[in-house]
Parts: sequence; structure tokens; C-alpha cells
Amino acid sequence: MTAKPYKTNDHAQAWENILKVVKDNVSTQAFRTWFEPIVSVKLKANVLTIQVPSQFFYEWLEEHYISLLKKTLRKELGSTGRLEYSIIMESASSNSSPYTVKIPTTDRNVLKNPSVALPIDINKDTIRNPFIIPGLKKIKVESQLNASYTLDNFIEGECNRLARSAGYAVSEKPGGTSFNPLLIYGGVGLGKTHLAHAIGIQMKEKYPEKIVLYVTAERFQTQFVDAIRSNNKNDFVHFYQMIDFLIIDDVQFFSGKEKTQDVFFHIFNHLHQTGKQLILTSDKPPIEMQGMEQRLLSRFKWGLSADLQVPDLETRIAILDNKIRIDGINMPKDVAEYLAYSITTNIRELQGALVTLLAQSSFNKKPITIELAKQMIDKFVKNTAREVSIDYIQKVVCDYFDLPIELLKSKTRKRDVVQARQLAMFFSKNMTKSSLAKIGAHCGGKDHATVLHACRTVNNLIDTDKQFKSYVTDLKKKISID
Ligand code: ADP
Ligand code: MG
Repeated sequence: MTAKPYKTNDHAQAWENILKVVKDNVSTQAFRTWFEPIVSVKLKANVLTIQVPSQFFYEWLEEHYISLLKKTLRKELGSTGRLEYSIIMESASSNSSPYTVKIPTTDRNVLKNPSVALPIDINKDTIRNPFIIPGLKKIKVESQLNASYTLDNFIEGECNRLARSAGYAVSEKPGGTSFNPLLIYGGVGLGKTHLAHAIGIQMKEKYPEKIVLYVTAERFQTQFVDAIRSNNKNDFVHFYQMIDFLIIDDVQFFSGKEKTQDVFFHIFNHLHQTGKQLILTSDKPPIEMQGMEQRLLSRFKWGLSADLQVPDLETRIAILDNKIRIDGINMPKDVAEYLAYSITTNIRELQGALVTLLAQSSFNKKPITIELAKQMIDKFVKNTAREVSIDYIQKVVCDYFDLPIELLKSKTRKRDVVQARQLAMFFSKNMTKSSLAKIGAHCGGKDHATVLHACRTVNNLIDTDKQFKSYVTDLKKKISID
């Protein structure tokens, strides 16, 4: 083929054409993992620059896909075509001017999620919008909502029923229920941010003419400090007083920051008095918040405080299934279940495990199997104290004897079920840190004495019954995660 420089400088088009070919030549998973995150940046003098998320990413591409990339690039750009990488540095959490980096400055790209962001005009002479870099003619309030955090995607379970339905009620009638403020609290990675966005998105859909704003407490504080520095405190306050439905994420961040609490107190009062809706999230209930002014805490308690708890097994499985479906991931059901069984405390970690597993499988060109999941979990979760869960033990035992798990948890005294139940208790006692009472409660509402008895029985049978002993050995192997 003769060298023919690309006619246009349309980098996006060139990259899109290249991707089309790549897509036909790599697995779907590899494509999602290694090519979808790439952004084309420019095409100049037949050099196509693409942006990749990390150094590691770049090395991976160079190592595994370079010949494919070269070939395709040549096809697209001719023999003088070259590829250059621009690597985003990973320390994105630096504190320097957080807004200018992220907030689009032109109308062309101001709306990332047109379905949820509603630009509105406000009087530019009176109020500065702290979300926008100064100097722009038209000031807009973007809702800052993440369109993928919808209520539909927020799986309902016992653990979140109150918060979810309160959120739904609020979004139907913002400011018009007794849930004002609605305070959603709970531990890390349990879905506070997701639910807060979901409520915002619902409100926006139902009341498109209203101004909805999502902001983290941290960002609110930085904006406030900036406003003070540039003598714009009034603008700051007025801006926030103009919002109809205000969502503040992680209010515990205000702890110990008296001035910010003070200004928030006034904004809160204004909004509340004028019937506007406030939605707050926090990692702990108001009663445990330290360093927070009493008058603010008492206001937090005016409405409804709803907590998010650790999801139970069914909910964890449903969350993973949902994610797998949305992302179009190809994963055997038992592997997804294994993840849900093994990671019990935190949904973010659960999803992280899923993503890591996908990357690992594409990385080592290995199929996604329970084996791989075990290895990965071992590495992935090694820093957080981890143990096999009772749920997992029950599942392995039931699979082994081909019994439905409900039977194991029932009161039935059928011989084979009793034996399986005793084995589950035995392994739970030996392989988890759970108390006898907890183990009993998990295995059909038995008390601690029953669990002790089960352990003794199993130990006796191991010594006397060869067949039984081989069950125990098999099961032990299956349960062990190492
Ligand atoms: P938090 O703000 O409480 O730390 P996030 O809202 O960031 O937690 O949730 C962590 C991850 O878990 C997100 O990816 C979120 O989408 C997901 N998640 C949490 N709860 C649910 C749920 N009930 N259904 C589906 N996904 C959930
Ligand atoms: Mg959060």
C-alpha cells in the first residue's frame, strides 16, 4: 500500500475506524477492558494521539496488541501513520483547582448527561455560580447527576428498603413530605451516593423546571472557602438558596469545620423554610456525628434518617446479576455467586472484584472460572480481614449433597439434612470467627448447644466412619479459599 497521509484531521473518525477492525479481532471482554477506555485526542501530521488511563494500560497495549494496532493503523493512515499515547497520571486526587479541571467550559460540551442536567439561565449580574469558571457569559446550573445511578439500577433489598422507598416518596413530592431533610446514612460502599443521585434523577424527571443540584460536602466546602477568599460569600449563599432540591453527599465531612457549618446552617434554614427539599448522606447517624454543631444536628433529625445496611446474600447476588446484565458481561452464574458469597461487607468491593476478575481473565487469557475467582479474591481482598462466610459454607455443603439450601435452614430432622446441617455447623465453627449462637441462628434457628453437639458428632464420625471422613476431606478442600 502506498503511503497516503490521512485526508482529514478527524482523529475521532480515524480512531473509530481503527476500533471497528480491532473489535473484530479481539474478544468482547478484551475490547471492553482495553479499548473502550481509550479516548482519541488528535491527529496531526499523520500521528494519531490516543489517551490511555495509566502507564500500565499503555504497557499492556504495547505488549499485547501492538501488532494488531500497527496493522490497523497502517490500513487507516497509510504507511507513515504513527500512534502516540498520552497517559493520564493516576494521582487525580490532588487538591489543585478541582473545578476547572472537571467542569466543561463551553456550551458545546456542557451537558454530559442531557437527560438529567438542566441548564437554566440566571441573572448573571447578581450571582456567581461557583460551578462555573468566571468569565462565561451565560451561567448555568448543571445538576451534576450521574445518569447511570438510577433508581432502577438500585436493587432493592431488606437492607435498603426504608431508604429506597423514602427516597422514592421524596422524589415524587420534593419538599412535600415529612421527610425533609432526608438523611441517608450507612457504611462505606453501601450505596449512599448511588441512592442520592437516583433520587435526584427522579426529581429532575418529574419536575424538569426545578433546579436540582448534587454536590459533595467536600466540594461545597472548597467552593465556600474560594468564595470567602475572593470576597464572594454572598454570591455563594445566594446561589445555594436558589436551588430547589439540594443533595449534599457525605455531610460528615463538615465535622469540625465551623464556618462551613455556619453557612450551611443558613442555607439549610432558607431552603427548608421555603419548602425546598434537602437530601443529605452521611457515613454515620446524626447521633454519632462528632464535631458537628448541635443546632445543625438537630435539624438533620427534623426529617427522616434512613440507614443502608450491609446487603444480604440474595441482594448481593441480585446486584451482581444486574451489573452483569447492564454491562453485557459474559460470566458463569456460579462464579458470580461465588463472588457474592465471598465478599460480604461492601458493594463497591464486590463490584471491584468483578472488574478485577474480568481484567485478570483478559490479562492471562484464562476463562472466567471459580478457580480464577478464588485466586483473584485472595489477592484482591487480602488486606481486609477475610474469612469464609457461613453462607458460603452452607452453599458448598448443600451443593455437595445436592440439597436445597432452604432445607438446611429449615427445622426438618430428615437424616441426610441433619447430617448436612451438622457439617455446615462444624465447618462454620472451624473456619469462621462466628459465635456458636450466630452459627446456630444461621442454620435453622438452633441454639449454641446444638452447634456444639453438632461439632462433637462430626468429630466422632470422622474417627469412626470412613465414608463420612472422606466427605469431610472433600468438603474442606472445596470450602478452603486458599
Ligand atoms: P457509598 O456512597 O455508600 O460509599 P456508593 O453509592 O458509591 O456507596 O456505592 C458503591 C457501589 O455500589 C456503586 O457502584 C453503586 O452503584 C453500587 N451499589 C450500592 N448499592 C447498590 C444497590 N442497592 N444496587 C445496585 N448497586 C448498588
Ligand atoms: Mg459515597
